[in-house]
Amino acid sequence: MPELLQYCSAGIYCQCAEVYVDPILPVDKAIISHAHTDCARIGHRKYLTHKVSSPFLKLKLGSYANVQEIEYAETISINGVNISLHPAGHVPGSSQVRFEYKGEVWVVSGDYKLSQDGIAQPLVALQCHTFVSEARYGLPFFRWRPQQYVHANISKWWKNNAEQGIHSVLVAYPFGKAQRILKNLQTDTGHIFVDEQINTINSIYRSLGIDLPKTYSFDQLTKSSPELRGLSVVSPSTLGSDYGLHKLQPYSLGMVSGKMKIDSIRRKKAIDTGFVLSDHADWIGLNTVIRASCAERILINQGQSVFFSKWLHANGIDARELTSIHHEDWMKNAPAAYMYA
Ligand SMILES: [Zn+2]
Repeated sequence: MPELLQYCSAGIYCQCAEVYVDPILPVDKAIISHAHTDCARIGHRKYLTHKVSSPFLKLKLGSYANVQEIEYAETISINGVNISLHPAGHVPGSSQVRFEYKGEVWVVSGDYKLSQDGIAQPLVALQCHTFVSEARYGLPFFRWRPQQYVHANISKWWKNNAEQGIHSVLVAYPFGKAQRILKNLQTDTGHIFVDEQINTINSIYRSLGIDLPKTYSFDQLTKSSPELRGLSVVSPSTLGSDYGLHKLQPYSLGMVSGKMKIDSIRRKKAIDTGFVLSDHADWIGLNTVIRASCAERILINQGQSVFFSKWLHANGIDARELTSIHHEDWMKNAPAAYMYA
């Protein structure tokens, strides 16, 4: 008898229910853990996702997409398999996917974090027999400082730049990270500008009742004289394009990402100031959630899967990596923006 879930060419598959989780190739039925590019792809016939994730997903797919929305902890049953979504704390609507069949329970984590950002619904730790976990930052080196400390540093950096007549440009992933920063900024330093991509996603946040500070168009800013006391929050694709940043001289370039923990990445991208803040669990967070699952078996499906699964195994946990060549291939061709999540 096959396992309840398997990894095949299109991704994580439940044969009993004939559904995939975040499939990487076009399939008939896809459960989407959240609307980031590496999980939410165009081309599936039917989608199932959390209701808060749905407007972000439709932004990518178009309004014609066949998307079924469910609430957290609502169960749908397909061929005897009970499937439900549970908060993952990563971005609004992000979900862990729970499968239950004849008393056996599997959970696919999707991306998750433990720190509560005041926007995404906090992660709910689930117990199961098999836990399929991400491990984007599954090295002991990756330990996050309290988010309040990082947010305060971002506001301080902006204020210092403004006092010297230098515009601040902050690069952040456009869905999740940008809004987390905006919500926690001390806004009395000057005007805040955002690029079109972030502005579009902000409008969905506002329609969901999530308060964000007033922002202005980055396009208009680059067409007019630079507002040197201002802060621009832009997505990586804007940084990578000739988008008029030179018109903002003098400016200071900051970036917010878990990867800013790595000095060589910061230097390579000529970032003046890196802020280490991630929407993924750090080393401590991963270990905490995995232990809380009380799972008999852990499968690591992305990130530092080799190291992390070996480390768990050495600590008496039945763990192995689930990474396939297909996922690695996709990662090589992933849009640059994804790399800053
Ligand atoms: Zn994600």
